[in-house]
Amino acid sequence: NAKKCGKNGYCWFEPQMENELQFRNALETGIREGLVNGEFVPYYEQQIDLENGELTGFEMLARWHSPRLGVVAPDVFIPIAESMGLIAELSEQLIEQALEDAKEWDADLTLSVNISPLQFNDPWFPQRLLKLLVKANFPPQRFEIEITESCLHDNVALVRSMIVSLRNQGIKVNLDDFGTGYSSFAQLRSLPFDRIKIDRSFVSAIGREGGASQIVNAIVSLGQGLGMPITAEGIEDDETLDNLRALGQLKGQGYIYGRPETIEQVRERLEGLGRLARPAEPVDGAGA
Ligand code: C2E
Ligand code: MG
Ligand code: MG
Ligand code: MG
Repeated sequence: NAKKCGKNGYCWFEPQMENELQFRNALETGIREGLVNGEFVPYYEQQIDLENGELTGFEMLARWHSPRLGVVAPDVFIPIAESMGLIAELSEQLIEQALEDAKEWDADLTLSVNISPLQFNDPWFPQRLLKLLVKANFPPQRFEIEITESCLHDNVALVRSMIVSLRNQGIKVNLDDFGTGYSSFAQLRSLPFDRIKIDRSFVSAIGREGGASQIVNAIVSLGQGLGMPITAEGIEDDETLDNLRALGQLKGQGYIYGRPETIEQVRERLEGLGRLARPAEPVDGAGA
């Protein structure tokens, strides 16, 4: 009794699509089609130096503009793309797009991207990433990756060599969502991260739950001790911001600065700040 409307003989949201397996199959088909049709779009969240309130760069956050579902969040499609073995392809498509976007930005603004554990654990990952940067002619020094504690498996030596090889290329490697996973102090000590990002759950609890600001404070001290600067994610209100600024020299992100934006919105923002890339100077001596 399903109304036929797709090539495959079913609609996505027919109420008749009662079982999860069918929905899952439809999502998988949608992701495959989305990759072919360029439906995955980078959005950007501002990263701010909390000392002076200045924009330092953007974190790219994936969105799926599905013709059937509308805008889909990464928590929905990233795990499925991972299980389909398509995460590297999806991520690389987004990174290519983001690198083109970021070339329009002022040369001191950075681009940060999230990397899945499956992607990170591919021994060819550093090389694949470098290839994208070279192709886009984008300076690795302006490029950062964010990995979570789930990337840090038992083979610390292997993880370390990955991080070192990325950093040798100039790419920064940041530890994302810190505090939610299982990284040990021993791992943290032997892994040369450029920066630690404190998970939003701790940041949003500041001023609301006893102990939260002590935990954030402890992570900030840990970062100082290890020589790793700190970013606080998920700042939503002025009170939290004030508390964080009192803790030290941090970077921050969060809805207090706005929601993740499309490249068009970013362009408008940068234009207002006078921070779009200046057109290249004419080559010296040309025409003289
Ligand atoms: P994340 O890297 O920790 O990104 C932060 C998430 O928190 C983003 O959600 C962002 O929109 C949200 N957020 C930022 N500020 C606030 C705030 O003040 N309050 C609240 N409530 N939320 C805030 P989003 O975009 O849905 O991304 C969720 C996760 O999906 C990301 O967490 C990241 O782990 C993953 N992700 C996003 N893009 C990619 C990608 O291209 N590749 C991979 N592998 N993962 C991605
Ligand atoms: Mg992140
Ligand atoms: Mg995070
Ligand atoms: Mg997260």
